[in-house]
Amino acid sequence: MFFPLTVRDFLDRAVTVYPDRVAVVDEPDQPAPSWGEVTYAELGRRARSQAAYLDGLGVPPGARVAIVSQNSARLLTSFFGVSGWGRILVPVNFRLAAAEVKYIVEHSGAEVLLVDPEVRGLLDTVTAKHTFVIGESDEPMWTTGGEPQPWEADEAATATINYTSGTTARPKGVQLTHRNLWTNASIFGWQAGVNDRDVYLHTLPMFHANGWGMPYAVTGMGGRHVVIRKIDGAEILRRVERHGVTFMCAAPAVVQAVLDAAKTWDGEVPGRDRVRIIVAGAPPPTRTIERVRGELGWEFIQIYGLTETSPLLTMSRMREEWDGLEPLEQARLLGRAGAPAVGVRIMVDDDGEVLAQSNHNLDAYWENPDATATALQGGWFHTGDGGTFEDGHLTIADRKKDVIISGGENVTSIEVEDALMLHAAVREVAVIGIPDEKWGELVTALVVLDPEEGEVSAEDLIAHTRQHLAGYKCPKRIEFRDELARTATGKLQKFKLRAPYWEGKERQVN
Ligand code: AMP
Repeated sequence: MFFPLTVRDFLDRAVTVYPDRVAVVDEPDQPAPSWGEVTYAELGRRARSQAAYLDGLGVPPGARVAIVSQNSARLLTSFFGVSGWGRILVPVNFRLAAAEVKYIVEHSGAEVLLVDPEVRGLLDTVTAKHTFVIGESDEPMWTTGGEPQPWEADEAATATINYTSGTTARPKGVQLTHRNLWTNASIFGWQAGVNDRDVYLHTLPMFHANGWGMPYAVTGMGGRHVVIRKIDGAEILRRVERHGVTFMCAAPAVVQAVLDAAKTWDGEVPGRDRVRIIVAGAPPPTRTIERVRGELGWEFIQIYGLTETSPLLTMSRMREEWDGLEPLEQARLLGRAGAPAVGVRIMVDDDGEVLAQSNHNLDAYWENPDATATALQGGWFHTGDGGTFEDGHLTIADRKKDVIISGGENVTSIEVEDALMLHAAVREVAVIGIPDEKWGELVTALVVLDPEEGEVSAEDLIAHTRQHLAGYKCPKRIEFRDELARTATGKLQKFKLRAPYWEGKERQVN
């Protein structure tokens, strides 16, 4: 029997098996009225109400619904209310500048756009057929109720499009199908041991690769979602204590914030021998892993993947064979990206690039056949990361693509260079990532000025980029140079420009 895999399966199971359980504890401190605690029966009702409301607006299956929001119960519900009845959810990074959001909304052809009240200013420049401010004009969407029109479930249908800063100046829309999301959520959930006693704290932005699939996996098991809107180490610890959190996913910068907060925490840090934390985005330092395990007493798990792979490719988790090793050695082993997840094949090609095959690799880049063909050449997804694959474990050592990962979010050098070049005084520019304790990598611009344009300071240039780019993409450091290293054909030699900053580092990513 063939039965299509769709993301609604996760919600349907929770509604059937755990109707009276608290599904979500919404963020109390947000500009929209908080939903407080919502049961699975109620979450199911609100998702159906949203789908029925979209029917009423005449938004057909396959249409795109964009949402620009911090973590919230409404965003979580939309993963089901939008995709579960055949529409395509486009979760957008709420930190992006208006011009960036405009591009994504237009490129995806979104008919519906919901924005968080904090970013309502976006509606001055970004338009769609139907626009809503969350917690205000969208309220009937969740409360009108009604039964949505049936959708002929299709696992090959696109469920979400996630825009990611990749290798081009413009972000690319990663098209993930129901089948992609289903297999990622199930395999990830299984390998991470997601179960009905889990209390999951959303320390990862839900827009980022659909919260790595945890909105689906945790729901399917009837676990409890605890929404957190702003990332702050002490607040994370308070919520761990208050809600009995067992599980979270985070970028290395968040782990650092928790470790810092733990230093001044009064009494025993909560969650010892209970919390497991899954980290990805950059290879965490061995010392950080040791501290998470020793000082917090939390289980440390690393994964490696990309938005394009839904994201799970490899997982690094303690295994029985390592039980007798010293903590430092265990931390070293956990510092690798890990072993391929079930159903994932990994190989490293002759250039050292990591390639992957799996059932949750992207279907395509939205309306970008050239980028799709390049990324999936030869039937393998090309990650753009450099690494080694030994003893069944992958280590990420280097990046082949011109991408900087700062605080867990991707920044394409080209988009920052483009923004700087719009300034009349900038004659040449190269943007690189340099290692940084807090951000992992610091967006750094090496700039050659045009002397005829007068005096320009680093602050002027940073302020200029703020008009075009999300704050986290703007250079944090600018260095002025007389010239930049180039090849005979005039190509920038980024590796030479990066070299002095990365000297003595074991890996060329941080
Ligand atoms: P994104 O699509 O925004 O999630 O970014 C994916 C990129 O993050 C990958 O291509 C890697 O460069 C990087 N990344 C993710 N996980 C890891 C990890 N465990 N170690 C090293 N780099 C990672």
